[in-house]
Amino acid sequence: MSKKIIINIGQLITNSPLVEAKKTSQIQKDDLGILEDAWLSIDQNGRVEGYGSSKSGDAKTPNLNSYQEVIDARGSLVTPGLIDSHTHMVFAGDRSHEFLQKSAGATYQEVAAAGGGIKYTVRETRKASLSELTKSCEVRLQNSLRSGVTSIEIKSGYGLSVHDELKILQAANQAVTPQHKSMTCLALHDIPEDADSKTSFIREMTEQLLPEVKKQNLADWCDAFVEKGYFEPSDVTPYFEKAKKLGFGIRIHADEFSDSGACQVAADFGAASADHLQHGSDMGIEALKSSGAVATLLPGTSLCSNIKYSNGAHIESLGCPIAIASDFNPGSCQIMNLAKILTISIFSNKVSPWAAFAGVTWVGANSMKIQKSKGALAAGYDADFLIHEHKSLPEWLSSWGEFLPRSVWVQGLQVSS
Ligand SMILES: [Zn+2]
Repeated sequence: MSKKIIINIGQLITNSPLVEAKKTSQIQKDDLGILEDAWLSIDQNGRVEGYGSSKSGDAKTPNLNSYQEVIDARGSLVTPGLIDSHTHMVFAGDRSHEFLQKSAGATYQEVAAAGGGIKYTVRETRKASLSELTKSCEVRLQNSLRSGVTSIEIKSGYGLSVHDELKILQAANQAVTPQHKSMTCLALHDIPEDADSKTSFIREMTEQLLPEVKKQNLADWCDAFVEKGYFEPSDVTPYFEKAKKLGFGIRIHADEFSDSGACQVAADFGAASADHLQHGSDMGIEALKSSGAVATLLPGTSLCSNIKYSNGAHIESLGCPIAIASDFNPGSCQIMNLAKILTISIFSNKVSPWAAFAGVTWVGANSMKIQKSKGALAAGYDADFLIHEHKSLPEWLSSWGEFLPRSVWVQGLQVSS
């Protein structure tokens, strides 16, 4: 790969102070490493070689002759690529009819009781072939990439049988994209209609599915929907114990509809991330913080499903790290544009703009345990970055995701424009 340098950057966000301090909570503007009138150089391995600002005087622009490619950012904003740490990208079927039900006031639970929701998607996904699921996932990933997402987490959870959960994870693995992908087995997403009992279903997923996922190396993570009426903390204990024994990391859908004790489960099992948290108690958030888990907010789901927003400002004030993700899925959130989700979070979760920006970059990387190479533009990090149409971070944040990035780069290569 040729060495290259991006010059004439109006504003460059590096997140380098966060990397140096390993800081993930109560993030302020000064933590983002914002440089004006800057340059960014990339080595032949697609990693950040260096950066600087012609304003600071201490980091002169290198000799351009030593680079094979010189890219003019024309005064634009350059940021790290976005990290979407919670998505459901593999599914079949169309739930637009539920949009009409919800627009008439139906709740998540009412839609599910009428035969819709996850169960509908499970029926459709079971009918789909591996290649159909792979192809539709690729189309979604391409869209996500165009919106600036360079690293993505992808969950299963619409198969709910050994065969179909494996098929979904195989599709996620086979889907071709330049994005960094990390897969999660979300076997305990819902109880399928054909299960003999909740207990027998959990046993099958725990004893049969998890070892097979491990054997085929299909996922890094295990997840469960811990919620009253779905899976209670006591239900998920054997599943997470087995997952840990097999070497999976843990992520949890926690306290979306009620305080079910899911935060404590996340803390007890050393989860990397507890997600949703509309009803997480202070005690629960404190438990997450002490255990080192990231609180992941999913404001798109609150918007699309007309449910309350998690109190991001309060979680931030308690000192818990905050990531922000799309939760893109066929029913409760159809927005995958993470820049739009980011601005919604600032407005509706009341997260500070600086913490919110870190939430879709550096802290998102921490929640996926890829923070040693992703989520910042520090020296030696993967050159995953975006050249925006906007000139500054405030201008971009206030645009509600309008105007996709002018170009998207992964490991030093332009992959979308
Ligand atoms: Zn989810």
